[in-house]
Amino acid sequence: MSAKIAEAIEAARKVLSDHGIKSAPVPVDRIIKAKGIALEYAPLEPELSGMAYIKDGIAIIGLNSLHHPNRQRFSAAHELGHHELHADILSSAVHVDRGFQVLLRDDVSSLGISDKEREANAFAAELLMPSEFIAGALEKNGLDIEDDEGVAALAKKFKVSTVAMRYRLSNR
Ligand SMILES: [Zn+2]
Repeated sequence: MSAKIAEAIEAARKVLSDHGIKSAPVPVDRIIKAKGIALEYAPLEPELSGMAYIKDGIAIIGLNSLHHPNRQRFSAAHELGHHELHADILSSAVHVDRGFQVLLRDDVSSLGISDKEREANAFAAELLMPSEFIAGALEKNGLDIEDDEGVAALAKKFKVSTVAMRYRLSNR
């Protein structure tokens, strides 16, 4: 894991503790608003997941209202990651995410996915599926990742897609 990814994960943990979040589902929209970031929803083109920018000193996150709520949550967390980690670039240009892969491995750099996207995704994964909460849930339920129903139940509890949860469980 790169130092930048580790920093992104650490930043997500700090957000959770700053906002006193102790259980799933993590209220990402409430956190965003509490941070004074404007959250806007609009019906965007299907491939547009979200955007992050700063206009006249106001931090803004835009989400695609046509996407599934779980996907909107991941997009919101991803965009919050950009505000937390990459605020310097958001003042000069609107950062638009087009159908970014929610699940990015460290080894996809060859696909032209930037470091900043991977950092924002690592932030989002830790924010929505904190390793501490996941460990607690696994300990309690003794979940096997081959157990489809169990993974689906956990995804529901955390309000994330089952794909995202499965990825999370296999990359701990
Ligand atoms: Zn992004």
